[in-house]
Amino acid sequence: MIKSATSLKRLILMVVIVLLSAFTVNAQYFGQNRVRYKNEKFKVLQTPHFELYYYLKNEKMVKKFAEDAETWYKMHQEVFRDTFFKKNPIILYNNHPDFQQTTALQGEVGVGTGGVTEAFKNRVIMPVMELNNQTRHVLGHELVHAFQYHILLEKDSMGLENISQIPLWMIEGMAEYLSVGKVDAFTSMWMRDALLNRDIPSLKDLTNSNKYFPYRYGQAFWTFIGSRYGDTTIVPPV
Ligand SMILES: [Zn+2]
Repeated sequence: MIKSATSLKRLILMVVIVLLSAFTVNAQYFGQNRVRYKNEKFKVLQTPHFELYYYLKNEKMVKKFAEDAETWYKMHQEVFRDTFFKKNPIILYNNHPDFQQTTALQGEVGVGTGGVTEAFKNRVIMPVMELNNQTRHVLGHELVHAFQYHILLEKDSMGLENISQIPLWMIEGMAEYLSVGKVDAFTSMWMRDALLNRDIPSLKDLTNSNKYFPYRYGQAFWTFIGSRYGDTTIVPPV
């Protein structure tokens, strides 16, 4: 979730408007976007690099999730050559409907949103998916974003506004490539289709047109770079 200064101003304005109208309308709510239907008690599990907030009853599943987070950390760390000195928070919801009601985020969480990573806190917020490999994939994908934000905001001191200028195919394609890998039947199918239709976009097309789904084409781009030049080219040594 990327928040700019203007949206903050807008938010303040909105709160002010709501406050003003609260005087005229009795039953006016403000300050909270979503109704929290269940007041779940979150527990915390500490791992070497993460602080996992969860309320899953299945402790075995929680342990597996925490192990996966550490495995992803090691894999991504090799590519990004970056270390988190502060533990990265992860908020895990039991299912998608619970995740959609999260009060940790402002704005709507859509049905199609698998997970969210917040820029400054590097906090990953996601549900347990229907299949274990989906959960593992969303976690791996979101943790790529955590590394991206960390390296760009803290090591590169880039502003949030500049980050939002980076094309989606670079950001999302990288998250897909590093969480799915080189061999992916789904993306291959997209690429075969593009080839058959003689519609292979240039990087300029990818950047300027929303005709090309950034996740798939971006993944194909990074697969090419990773296969040809090695994954260490993704984040060049300083
Ligand atoms: Zn993403």
